[in-house]
Amino acid sequence: MTRTAVIGAGPCGLAQLHAFEQARLAGADIGEIVCFEKQSDWGGLWNYTWRTGLDERGDPVHGSMYRYLWSNGPKECLEFSDYTFDEHFGRPIPSFPPREVLYDYIVGRAKKSDVRQYIQFESPVRAVSFDGAAQTFEVTVQTWEPSGDSVLRTESFDHVIVATGHFSTPNVPEYPGFDRFPGRILHSHDFRDAAEFTGKDLLILGSSYSAEDIALQALKYGAASITVAYRTAAMGFDWPDGITEVPALRHLEGHTAHFTDGTSRDVDAVVLCTGYLHHFPFIDAELRLSTPNNLYPDGLYKGVAWTANPRLMYLGMQDQYYTFTMFDAQAFVARDLVLGRLPSPSPQEMAADVAAWRDRYARVDSIMEQIDFQTEYVRDLMTLTDYPSFDLDLVRQHFVEWEHDKDESITGYRDKSFASPCTGSVGPTPSTTWWDEPDDSLARFLQR
Ligand code: FAD
Ligand code: NAP
Ligand code: MG
Repeated sequence: MTRTAVIGAGPCGLAQLHAFEQARLAGADIGEIVCFEKQSDWGGLWNYTWRTGLDERGDPVHGSMYRYLWSNGPKECLEFSDYTFDEHFGRPIPSFPPREVLYDYIVGRAKKSDVRQYIQFESPVRAVSFDGAAQTFEVTVQTWEPSGDSVLRTESFDHVIVATGHFSTPNVPEYPGFDRFPGRILHSHDFRDAAEFTGKDLLILGSSYSAEDIALQALKYGAASITVAYRTAAMGFDWPDGITEVPALRHLEGHTAHFTDGTSRDVDAVVLCTGYLHHFPFIDAELRLSTPNNLYPDGLYKGVAWTANPRLMYLGMQDQYYTFTMFDAQAFVARDLVLGRLPSPSPQEMAADVAAWRDRYARVDSIMEQIDFQTEYVRDLMTLTDYPSFDLDLVRQHFVEWEHDKDESITGYRDKSFASPCTGSVGPTPSTTWWDEPDDSLARFLQR
């Protein structure tokens, strides 16, 4: 019997289990599927934890999400085409839900397709290697006895699908003066509650989504001032009073931050919104994806199959405009490669396909072109399998409109409504604005 390991039960791993389960229900022989998840529950980053640093077993905490985190894109851009928001909530809901609502939705589909049966929790994978003689992958997993003693066991698999995410291991730069700063310096991975910074002057490094959202959060929950230092380019939004963008940090001197334009500010704390590393220490070097965060990592056929050994696959390793639907489309491709429904191309064909996509990506130089690039990538994936179709052009249009909305009002874009690419239903306008709504609970959201 064919054995397939899925590593991780976040949105990607759950998409993979769902894809297999759909095939099984339709009568396919899917072999044996085993999903290993290091946490005690599913949902990946969406499974909120207050913990930072190490988890209860001494592993790095996976979670990077924080309290009061709301979707930063319209939910209509990530809607599962085979499990709509209307189906899950029984009625249309506003377009920008908080974390708990999206978690409920992701888990809702996983419960409906009953994929929990495939998952072994509290089971971190410690090693993945390939046995050339046996032509199988050797996967080493750690588990714990009720006594607390841990056990390592190694199993053989014909296919391995890595779905461990890439927004968990922080990229932590150092600037002169960090070692003598008399306040807290933390990475966004360890940021949990904006109320910690009420009344404080905050310095944020970075100019991407984390910097943008943590700056807004901090102000919303009462920080005195937020200074955002960019390395390459300012975000350039029309920021509310209290948030200022400045050029790169040069150094800290006591409480004082000095920037490359010669200006300086006194700050109480520093949040490094400096991104994450693709980090797979458990995978043998020749199987290990090594890439910066971009829209088409090298070495992955269709963005999924490891070209040097395509029975190893990776999900969700791209930078992400598209999320849940892209993960679904990838998971259907991975499934069909495993089941032999999609032919496994020759190394030359795979290399040529990857090169063509990366060539195209090299010519992308604006946000709108990035959106188009990832739209075409998802479109390509969707032609390969029977993943139920949805109005991809509408989603593309939503992303474009969303970018314009953000430029128009960075505090107001989350109050806009979008139409579902699956059902056409339009998210109702919430009765309170995002800026004036401190409560991010599911119960409160469903009343808005
Ligand atoms: P993850 O969600 O990271 O899940 C990976 C899983 O693998 C985890 O459960 C982890 O415990 C497990 N794992 C890791 N290592 C091992 C191991 N060795 N053995 C076993 N299990 C392991 N996307 C959106 O669409 N909308 C948003 O608003 C949004 N907000 C975000 C906010 C933040 C702060 C961050 C960091 C990301 C956000 N994202 C958002 C993007 C996010 O990447 C995706 O939504 C999604 O969580 C990715 O799913 P994943 O399964 O690839 O990875
Ligand atoms: P990211 O998009 O990879 O951005 C990393 C940022 O760090 C870039 O701006 C980069 O600047 C900067 N940087 C890297 N090294 C630096 C250094 N040495 N000094 C100064 N700046 C440095 O990472 P992210 O912003 O953490 O986003 C990760 C994911 O989380 C995204 O998918 C995002 O959508 C998601 N997210 C969502 C929300 C939400 O509201 N739902 C909130 C936060 C994050 P350069 O431009 O100079 O390279
Ligand atoms: Mg812009």
